[in-house]
Amino acid sequence: MQTLPGAKWSCHGCGACCRDFRLGPVEPEVVAALKARGADALVAELSGPADWVVPEAGPGGETGLFLRHVDGHCVFLLPDNRCAVHARWGGEAKPGFCQEFPYRRLRDPNGEVLVIRAECGGLHASHVDGDPLAAQTALASALPTLRPTPEFRPEAVAILPGVGASLADWMALERSLLACWEAVDADAAEPEDTARALARAAVQAVGRSLPPGRTALAADAVREAMRMVANAAIAQETPATEAWQRTLVRQTNLLFDRKIARSAEGSDGARRLSEATKRYLHTLLGQAILGKHLVAAGGFVAMLGRFVFECDLVRSSAGSGQVTPAEASAVLVPWLRFADNPMVLGMLRRATPALLELAAPPARDVPTIAP
Ligand code: SF4
Repeated sequence: MQTLPGAKWSCHGCGACCRDFRLGPVEPEVVAALKARGADALVAELSGPADWVVPEAGPGGETGLFLRHVDGHCVFLLPDNRCAVHARWGGEAKPGFCQEFPYRRLRDPNGEVLVIRAECGGLHASHVDGDPLAAQTALASALPTLRPTPEFRPEAVAILPGVGASLADWMALERSLLACWEAVDADAAEPEDTARALARAAVQAVGRSLPPGRTALAADAVREAMRMVANAAIAQETPATEAWQRTLVRQTNLLFDRKIARSAEGSDGARRLSEATKRYLHTLLGQAILGKHLVAAGGFVAMLGRFVFECDLVRSSAGSGQVTPAEASAVLVPWLRFADNPMVLGMLRRATPALLELAAPPARDVPTIAP
């Protein structure tokens, strides 16, 4: 099983994964086993007698059973952020998606890949002091999986819209891009520069070039597109909308209001990143490459453009001084949850021209990385 070189993770008990997510679908056999163990009585102890699973439409439109939210968190989450199911009956009693999070597995022509989901609220801390991910592959392999492991075997891999590489060529290119990523001094390099250097290297590998991007204009265009989606989501709110979903959309919408004040020469109003934040963002970039985020983005360069946009959100965050990893995580985790929505993904796809500009080198130069 492949992991990102140097990747680390361990649970920091932040409880973020049990909040602000749709919690399901839960396997019917897990629901039956929990009922047999006495989950009804446990929930009555925690929050009063009530159903703890509710039927909702799942990701594919099919109805499934989802854990109920109470005050924005899972009905089983204890005040000290522990899981009551885990505490009482052990980790194996939990629904499969709870056991699997934050691992994400997929299969590519080289075998299995294991990455950590960027939505993990403890990733910014655990990538510093966590356990090596390479030592967790047996554990991750043994976990129950709700769905077959996704396969990455497209006939062609999009680098730019309409410009692709064969799967074999992409796998060779991915290897060299990851080697370039690994060679970067992650404490010193600006993550956007690394992303743009990788974009230039990938585009050159397919015989194309990227014209300089109008970075400020493109970032503001994507921000505006995201604000439109958020406003549409807010307008669609009904009394049935769960409070946590309402809060998530409203909080995320605030991110799009904060624009970086830019002079003609650059980004004067942008906050600088601490060394640890640069390293955290580099980790997210490496994970996005190995984890094939290009599939959801509709292409490799668009994926890098989205990463640059995320760096822009981080740099425009409220506060003073250098952005700490915790501040960056506080911006990125809700954004990633917001963006994990078909309507938002659709809008991001429509914003591809702006994302390509974000991934292109701006007028000032960026280092060259040879694949
Ligand atoms: S069942 Fe436990 S691990 Fe799963 S979402 Fe609820 S509190 Fe979290």
